[in-house]
Amino acid sequence: MQLYNKLSAKEREALLEEAGEDRLTLSFYQYAKIGNPELFRNHLFIAWDQMEVLGRIYVAHEGINAQLSVPAKNFGNFKEFLDGIYFLENVRLNIAIEHDIKSFLKLKVKVRDKILADGLNDATFDVTNKGVHVDAKAFNELLDDPNTILVDMRNHYESEIGHFKGAMTPDVDTFRDSLDIIEKDIQDHKEDKNLVMYCTGGIRCEKASAYYKHKGFKKVYQLEGGIIEYARQVQNLKLENKFLGKNFVFDHRRGERISEDVVSNCHQCGKPCDTHVNCANEACHLLFIQCEECAEKMSSCCSAECQDIAALPYEEQKALRKGKGNSNKIFKKGRSEVLKYKN
Ligand SMILES: [Zn+2]
Ligand SMILES: [Zn+2]
Repeated sequence: MQLYNKLSAKEREALLEEAGEDRLTLSFYQYAKIGNPELFRNHLFIAWDQMEVLGRIYVAHEGINAQLSVPAKNFGNFKEFLDGIYFLENVRLNIAIEHDIKSFLKLKVKVRDKILADGLNDATFDVTNKGVHVDAKAFNELLDDPNTILVDMRNHYESEIGHFKGAMTPDVDTFRDSLDIIEKDIQDHKEDKNLVMYCTGGIRCEKASAYYKHKGFKKVYQLEGGIIEYARQVQNLKLENKFLGKNFVFDHRRGERISEDVVSNCHQCGKPCDTHVNCANEACHLLFIQCEECAEKMSSCCSAECQDIAALPYEEQKALRKGKGNSNKIFKKGRSEVLKYKN
């Protein structure tokens, strides 16, 4: 019995090209109590390997988070297999609009402590006791209700370029911080107000809604499938779009435009702009908002210092980097001292 990959990514790519078959790229997640993640992991690997499923899957005591590529011809079997697992029966599958047959080249099923890094101590509350899922239409109706408090569960650099009208957008770097800040701000409304939340694809709200219910909030709602699914439904069903600007995404595109509004500013000159870039100095790599004119003037760097370094020959840059850590990649994101324009 084979429990791990035997083919290299290269061999897999060649095989996929040869076969030329249609594949679906999809994702799903589910919070559930999994007693033995290792056993569950092996069960998934054996079944999915036989169906030629590829992808990256995390399994933990708290649930599963999966990004997959499934051969179109095996989709029926795959769906049947999921429906045979009680907590995955009819789980919502997010199927990508653009299909890339090479979106994944291996099947990796990993056991992790958490399926979402949240900084919370699991034992304190039940993640399966979550808020009411609402679709785009119901979400819009809730937003029209004066008794609604709308909160954005994402980090500051995500909500900066786009958010729902009237949402609380906590100025935080981590999910853990936003939970506390929001709770403090709305603690007087545990019973009377609708607490409505949203995030990119829904997974953060699964955890956050359960957390707030645990903290005593009575009317907790979450946008099912997040901004991604909202945008899809708004377009397909011709609903009113209440999202302003861009949805920050964690792939090479960095943002997906949802409305024509530009809600943020260039971090260097302050003019309206919502284009995220990484500083061209590899050692810095700061993620910030930069307009085209500033990009030209600054050679795509965040500061004159980085501009000098980026202009050096590559070997010299490498020598300068040696032994230095890089905190910008994770934390500063638009808050760096070198950015002159600040909100
Ligand atoms: Zn600018
Ligand atoms: Zn820089």
